[in-house]
Amino acid sequence: MIGLPGRRTRTTVALTTTALVASLALTACGGSSSAKGTDGKLNVVASFYPMEFLAQQIGKDHVSITDLTAPGVEPHDLELTAKQVAGVQKADAIVYLKGLQPTVDQAVDQSSAKTKIDATAASPLVDHHLDEGAEGGDAPKDKGPAGDPHIWLDPARYAAIAKSVGDGFAKADPSHAEDYKKNTDELVTKLTALDQEFQAGLKDTRTKTFVTSHAAFGYLADHYGLTQVAINGVDPESEPTPARLAEVQKAAKDNGVTTIFFETLVSPKLADTVAKDLGLKTAVLDPLEGVKDPSKDDYLSVMRQNLANLQAALGAPSGAPSSAPGSTSGTTPTPAS
Ligand SMILES: [Zn+2]
Repeated sequence: MIGLPGRRTRTTVALTTTALVASLALTACGGSSSAKGTDGKLNVVASFYPMEFLAQQIGKDHVSITDLTAPGVEPHDLELTAKQVAGVQKADAIVYLKGLQPTVDQAVDQSSAKTKIDATAASPLVDHHLDEGAEGGDAPKDKGPAGDPHIWLDPARYAAIAKSVGDGFAKADPSHAEDYKKNTDELVTKLTALDQEFQAGLKDTRTKTFVTSHAAFGYLADHYGLTQVAINGVDPESEPTPARLAEVQKAAKDNGVTTIFFETLVSPKLADTVAKDLGLKTAVLDPLEGVKDPSKDDYLSVMRQNLANLQAALGAPSGAPSSAPGSTSGTTPTPAS
């Protein structure tokens, strides 16, 4: 009787301690609803530049991002280091594009990350290259799932992917869900404006056909009513067959093509050779698989440069209102009337 209150007290203390230990354990293993890295930020792994840009724009200060593909590196067939695989394993959230980088897909499959955002879930892949015969007969057969992976080059599809990244971040880090939503809306507004610039800028061009070294622009072509003729397949390092080169030559002649586009991360030698043979110019059409100087350029600025280069090559009417670089909000002084 006398000892009972003491026993009760001790029992209460013991229970409290157990509860405390349990809650500490939950925090330590990150098993609670809000997974966070040690710096308090959501630890995000992005597979390559277009995914990194979405993570940055939507996550801002709440995320710490690791890009698996270094600036200026061609992302197709990327090999991961052991350290990178460990980083994928430990990430809170992963933003990637299934079907572009087989080693990344493998690491993501094996990762215990709670939030895996696959861009192709928001924008399913379409097969562009087969009907265009862009793959040579000796194209490697072990290329992973069928479908053209270059969905980010259509701003409307990219906006859909942005929304899925915003939803994924909000679920992974609910305490900042409102910020992620606001940042997503802002980015989607910018992408919608970019889409409208492309629509207007490519509406009345002299020709609708463009020739490119790497078949990266199938989605862009579909969205704006253009025809992509690719010297190479979807893999930029593959070699075209002589039969393919003859087809490209005929398509260029038949459609009044003036320019052969090449990209920034791969040697322009092939495009140069073909252009010289056909007496055409060369220009850059950047597939945005990496940005050489992220402090200077981003998705939006490179896409506007692509639009200007396409307008020049396709013969857009001069003085098209959409061709002004940067904002359309009127920094240019207009004469008063
Ligand atoms: Zn590519």
